[in-house]
Amino acid sequence: MPRPAPEPGALLPRLTSRVFKDLAIYMLGFGLLIGLVFPYAILPAGVPRAVAIRPAFFALTIVAGLTVGGVAYALARAVVGRRLEGMRDRMQHVASAIENATHDGNWARCSPDACALSIDSDDVVGEVAASFNRLIDAVATSRRHTEEEQVYAHSMAVHLDLDDLARAALQGLIDRTGADAGAVLVQADGELTIAAGHRLQGDPLTGSCLIAHALRHHEAAHVEVPEGLAVDAALVAFRPAAVSVVPVDFAGTPVGALLLAFARPPAPEVLLALEQLRDVTGVALHNALTHERFQRLAAIDPLTGAYNRRFGTGRLSEEFARATRAGTPLGVLTFDLDHFKRVNDTYGHLAGDQVLREVVQAASSVLRAGDVLVRTGGEEFLVVAPGAAVRDLHGLAERLRAVIAGNTVHIEAATLQVTVSVGAASYPATPASAPEELLEGVDRALYRSKREGRDRTTVIAGDAVPQAV
Ligand code: GH3
Ligand code: MG
Ligand code: MG
Repeated sequence: MPRPAPEPGALLPRLTSRVFKDLAIYMLGFGLLIGLVFPYAILPAGVPRAVAIRPAFFALTIVAGLTVGGVAYALARAVVGRRLEGMRDRMQHVASAIENATHDGNWARCSPDACALSIDSDDVVGEVAASFNRLIDAVATSRRHTEEEQVYAHSMAVHLDLDDLARAALQGLIDRTGADAGAVLVQADGELTIAAGHRLQGDPLTGSCLIAHALRHHEAAHVEVPEGLAVDAALVAFRPAAVSVVPVDFAGTPVGALLLAFARPPAPEVLLALEQLRDVTGVALHNALTHERFQRLAAIDPLTGAYNRRFGTGRLSEEFARATRAGTPLGVLTFDLDHFKRVNDTYGHLAGDQVLREVVQAASSVLRAGDVLVRTGGEEFLVVAPGAAVRDLHGLAERLRAVIAGNTVHIEAATLQVTVSVGAASYPATPASAPEELLEGVDRALYRSKREGRDRTTVIAGDAVPQAV
């Protein structure tokens, strides 16, 4: 807890210079004065004037006064001076330790335990020592914060994947602030979504006008706890006492926000600490979002949102390698729109594009998580279905064919329905030594569906002649 610095207004004009010289002048001067005044001072006590007011007596009292002054000075020098010299030596030692640590990084030598002065008095010398000890504490705290910031900055620098980065950021923020729960929110395409969360119950984005307000004002703030937000503790969930929101931006453009929930109201320094981590988090989140966007651009077909051929071929190879290694089935399915040329010819190319988009939406709705939908060419698609054996593949192919055939596409002048022909094969029921071999079989199956009248599914059973469904 930082303490307020005392006002330096009461300082002497010369704080450090000539302390002992001043002391000598004052003490000897005072001795001289006593020596001069003493003969007169003893007259009222009945000492005869002829005895007291004589050069010899003056000389004696002056010598006595100067001796007392000199001895007092010597004692002050010995008692106070020795202690100050001890403090000086200790401070010089600490100063060298700090200087060395800035070069060699060994801050253990400058820890408060190693460097603090022992305090045996509560007088001003004790207070000087206590102030010095507080200075060492402050250096250690500042050093610890710098180290924590470096660790945090490092964790931000090593992650490019958005999920990993958001998780690392959240952990770092919780470590730094002692928060009980939190979330990292990212803003992409104008929408705020949760990239990572920790022990947070309820959606921090519902009823989040306060969060929106903090974002608009670009400043860290403790906001009113949003309705329904709770900290998910081990046994119970409880409403946090405070929620802090820190908007994060990059070069003035918002990239998201950090949200932390506290069981007890946090100390004011928490917002300060969050402020300090804001910039590095903003750069890292911006990089991760950009990386993700480029990855998506490189992998996604812009017209339909399905994966593109390049990405799909890579995924098929990976899944084929995994299937052969693990001995698990791999389903591969291809489908092609029937008489699609007629759609273009009748309704125009734009209508054709809309049909393609809706076909992808319909197909996606029947795929399982982990299945990959790829647009391999104009109106040809591939589905890689890890784990799908022949029977699963039959089901998937038929669901796919049916959902597309049942979808009605509304275009300006009319409504239309399209059908697809499907071909499929599953490894290892259909043996293959490379993914291309599996694809050849699947293509054969597709041609058979076309040949036999379209709007149907053919699944290869083993390496025999394809069987129509
Ligand atoms: P089949 O049942 O034998 O597959 O007949 P089809 O008409 O679908 O086959 P064909 O290969 O003759 O025609 C495919 C058509 O797909 C031709 C092309 O204009 C259209 N096509 C390919 N890519 C796109 C696209 O991106 N947008 C639109 N609108 N049409 C496309
Ligand atoms: Mg076609
Ligand atoms: Mg075709």
